[in-house]
Amino acid sequence: MDLTLSSEERDIRDWVRTFVTKELMPLEQQVLTRERRGERGVTEAEHTALQDKARASGFFGIQTPESHGGMGLGAVMSALIAVELGRTFVPFRFAGEADNILFSANEEQQERYLKPTIEGTKRSCFAITEPGAGSDARAIRTSARREGDEWVISGEKTFITGGNEADFVMVFAVTDKEKGADGGVTCFLVDRDMGWKSEPIDTMGEWGPAALVFDDVRVPHSAILGEEGRGFELAMQWIGKGRYMLPAGALGACERLVEMGMEWARNRSTFGKPIAEYQAIQWMVADSATEIEALRWLVLTAAWQVDNGIDSRQAQSMAKLYGGVKANEIVDRVLQMHGGMGYTRELPVERWYRELRLLRIYEGTDEIQRRTIARNLLKGHASVRGHLG
Ligand SMILES: Cc1cc2nc3c(=O)[nH]c(=O)nc-3n(C[C@H](O)[C@H](O)[C@H](O)COP(=O)(O)OP(=O)(O)OC[C@H]3O[C@@H](n4cnc5c(N)ncnc54)[C@H](O)[C@@H]3O)c2cc1C
Repeated sequence: MDLTLSSEERDIRDWVRTFVTKELMPLEQQVLTRERRGERGVTEAEHTALQDKARASGFFGIQTPESHGGMGLGAVMSALIAVELGRTFVPFRFAGEADNILFSANEEQQERYLKPTIEGTKRSCFAITEPGAGSDARAIRTSARREGDEWVISGEKTFITGGNEADFVMVFAVTDKEKGADGGVTCFLVDRDMGWKSEPIDTMGEWGPAALVFDDVRVPHSAILGEEGRGFELAMQWIGKGRYMLPAGALGACERLVEMGMEWARNRSTFGKPIAEYQAIQWMVADSATEIEALRWLVLTAAWQVDNGIDSRQAQSMAKLYGGVKANEIVDRVLQMHGGMGYTRELPVERWYRELRLLRIYEGTDEIQRRTIARNLLKGHASVRGHLG
C-alpha cells in the first residue's frame, strides 16, 4: 500500500498551494471588510482576473476532459486541489468547469450550453429542490405538459445555488405523474429569457441561493436534456458527481482553522501562561488533528475509488457525513479557543462557522447520508470491512 503522492501530484498540489497563499489569502481582510458592508467579497471582475492568472499557468477546467480544453484531472487530484482552495474563505473556483450532466448533452445543446459554460460566458444552475421536496426529491411537483412541439413548465423551485445569476437552468419536472421518479421526471435546459423568475433567499451564509418560479414557461421539445422520463437518473448523477469534493474543501478549512487556533493559543496568556499549556486546549488541538487525519483518508479513499472504477457511493457518503459533522465540531472548538474574539467579525472564525454549517444540509443532509450508509450495510451492498474486504 502506497499512500504517498506522485511527483506530478505533488507539483500540481504545490502550485495550487502557492496560488492560494500568494493570490487569495492576501484578499482575506478585504473580503471580510466588504462582506461586513453587505457587498460581495470578491467582485466579478476581480474573480475573472484571478481565473485568468491561473489559466495562464494552465489551470483551467480541472475536471473537464482534455477533449473539451480542460486538464482532465482525476478524482484524487481534484480532491487535493479542493483541500488547498478550502484553506481560504476567499470565494474562488478555477475557470473551465461545467456540470457533469451537460457533457452527455446532444451536439446542439453542447454548442449552446456546455461550451459557453466551460468558457465562462454562460452560467448554469441545477434545480430539483422544491418547497415541498428536499431530501425526498422523488416528491417534486413541478410539472411539464406537452402541447404540440412545446412543453409548458409550471412550479416552484427553492434553494437553488446560483439561481439569481444563472443564464439557464437545468430544471427537473414531472412529465408523467403515474410513473413519477421511475421514468416520469424529465430534465429541461431553460434559458432565463424563456420566462422563469428568480428571487434571492437570505441565508446565514455570505451569498444566498434563489427561489425560481415557472409560471407556464414554454420551451421547445429540443430543450430536453437526455431522454424524456429519465431526468431523475440525471439528477442523481449530478448530485453524485463528487460527494468527496465538499468534505475535501472543509478539510482544508479545518487544517487552517487548527493552525490559527494553535497560533492563538501560543500567544494568548491567562493566569500567567499561554493557554496552549492547558490540557483543555491541548485536547482540542489533539482531537481536531486526529479527526482531520481521519477525514483526509475518508476523502482520499472515496476519490481513489472513483479513479479506480470502484463503486464509491458508500465511501462518499461517509466522507460527506464525517466531514460535515467534524468540520462543525472543529470550527466550534477553534472559536472556543479564541474566546470572545472568536465570536467577533474581526477574525474569520465566525465566518467559517456559518459557512461550514451548510455542509450538514446541502447535497444530502447528515441524516440522509446516515440513511444511505445504513441501508447499504443492512441490505448487504456494502461491508463494515470497507473495500479491502
Ligand atoms: C444554501 C443552499 C444551497 C442549495 N443549493 C441547491 C441547488 O443548487 N439545487 C437544488 O436543487 N437544491 C439545493 N439546495 C437544497 C438542499 O439540497 C436541501 O435543502 C436538502 O436536500 C434538504 O432538504 P430540505 O431543506 O427540504 O429539508 P427536509 O427534506 O425537509 O428535511 C428536514 C429535516 O428532516 C431530516 N429528514 C428528512 N428525511 C429524513 C429521513 N428519511 N430520515 C431522517 N431524517 C430525515 C433532514 O435530514 C432534515 O434534518 C440547497 C440548500 C441550501 C440551504
